[in-house]
Amino acid sequence: MLCDLAPDYIKSIAPYLPGKPISELAREIGMDASAIVKLASNENPLGMSPKAESAIQEALAEVARYPDGNCFLLREAIVKKFGVKPNSIIFGNGSNDILELAARAFLCNGVESIYSQHAFAVYPLVTQAVGARGNKVPAKNFGHDLEEMAKAVNSSTRVIFIANPNNPTGTLLDGDQIYSFLKIIPRNVLVVLDEAYDEYLSNQKKSEAINWIGEFENLLISRTFSKAFGLAGLRIGFGLASPQIIDIMNRVRQPFNVNSLAQAASAASLFDDSFVERSRALNQAGLHQIEEGLRKLNLDFIPSSGNFISFRVGNATEIYNELLLKGVIVRPVANYEMPDYLRVSIGLFKENEKFLDSLESIVKTK
Ligand SMILES: *Cc1c(COP(=O)(O)O)cnc(C)c1O
Repeated sequence: MLCDLAPDYIKSIAPYLPGKPISELAREIGMDASAIVKLASNENPLGMSPKAESAIQEALAEVARYPDGNCFLLREAIVKKFGVKPNSIIFGNGSNDILELAARAFLCNGVESIYSQHAFAVYPLVTQAVGARGNKVPAKNFGHDLEEMAKAVNSSTRVIFIANPNNPTGTLLDGDQIYSFLKIIPRNVLVVLDEAYDEYLSNQKKSEAINWIGEFENLLISRTFSKAFGLAGLRIGFGLASPQIIDIMNRVRQPFNVNSLAQAASAASLFDDSFVERSRALNQAGLHQIEEGLRKLNLDFIPSSGNFISFRVGNATEIYNELLLKGVIVRPVANYEMPDYLRVSIGLFKENEKFLDSLESIVKTK
């Protein structure tokens, strides 16, 4: 059989489990899609910036043409926003693409990547997809144990993945810890710092890692437009690193990996600070609302720096299914070795309320 002939390392990949789409649940339980609340994929409940919307309208006229493979205008915008050199930037079809390009450029059979227990599921996936070994380091209080991760480095290590904040635990390392870590990691090991949720951090906690690219030629920072910028459906993210790293990654990048609507929308969003600030403030208020609600229900949760929160319910599968029947989609995280937990994304006030009310009625009858 053809499929039997696929490499073992491919056949043993556990598929990524996405959040259940609203339309699918609507069909399954016969509920109107508008009555369903999806808090399962850390999407921005405010949608996208109005500036992105007009940029998309304008860019529609050129959809018959191939996109700019170099993302010229978007690159200029990133240069202006972050003060980096144009050749220090690579764009991806989502930041997942950046993670995959890093894996394809630096990993292969016989070498390994290091990542933390409970860290983002894409790190083991992209590692396995290229036949490399994943070295999973036990978490410390649900977060990255940088000391143990540094000790795990050996002659086969090529890439270390760090999510900060991490998904699904919401844990945050501070800048000093990451800086000290970079100091002791050999320069022939790529450190991928995945900052998908940085826009949700307060000013004092925001990452300064972009300033370290000149000092650490083995540092790759990945950012996304899927979360606070509200462009998850368009698929766009970017990586920042030394020109040498970017050059190698570009060898394996598809020439037109970022579509033209995504380029236009993201460039227009980048300077809409008021939209990002509204998204951040709404998220802070929603996090607070859900934390309060979980406390009232006596449910443990992991304090989160992201736009989601993981809470402990014990019989998570059962509660997940009962929430579905009430039209609330959250995310099971058993595949993150957290079988007792569910992750809920922060939504609009009303959505958070519906989630909490539904959860309350379920746990009260237990
Ligand atoms: C959501 C998320 C991303 C973003 O993925 P995209 O491909 O940019 O949509 C990246 N890293 C982590 C840790 C995430 O949770």
